[in-house]
Amino acid sequence: MARLEIIKYPDPRLRRQAARVTVFDESLNQLVDDLIETLSGTGSLALSAPQVGDLREVLVVDIPDDELRPRVYINPEILGKSAWGLVEESCLSIPGIVGNVFRATQVRVRAQDRDGQVVEQDLEGMNAVCLQHEMDHLAGKLFVDRLSVFRRLLLRGKLAAA
Ligand code: ZN
Repeated sequence: MARLEIIKYPDPRLRRQAARVTVFDESLNQLVDDLIETLSGTGSLALSAPQVGDLREVLVVDIPDDELRPRVYINPEILGKSAWGLVEESCLSIPGIVGNVFRATQVRVRAQDRDGQVVEQDLEGMNAVCLQHEMDHLAGKLFVDRLSVFRRLLLRGKLAAA
């Protein structure tokens, strides 16, 4: 396992679309382990492969007290969303920026595990929010894109410097 460097905004690599995983091999296992290792100790709850410069559709969510932690999602798809609300978010790739994002707090997800087995889960609360935040990274999107125009104007100086 290795702790990888986390790519920071405005690096253009954060804007690229990740590709579906088709090969479930040792390289994928290594990536998953490295993501978990890199996330641990950051104080953050989730991390996606594009944030460490790997454009595969892989993300990990590791929430204290979650009995299934760390959760690993490969090729995730959202099957349903409900219970929308404003949620405060931040991002390891955009240090120092916090903002409220409108998110579903209940989602049903289908994904694959490291062995390629298809799994479906119902998520709620931070598990649901973190999954959606990291799925945005897989699509080259950032949470600041989802902030209100007013909030983005307020943050303009900070975001330019970030
Ligand atoms: Zn993020």
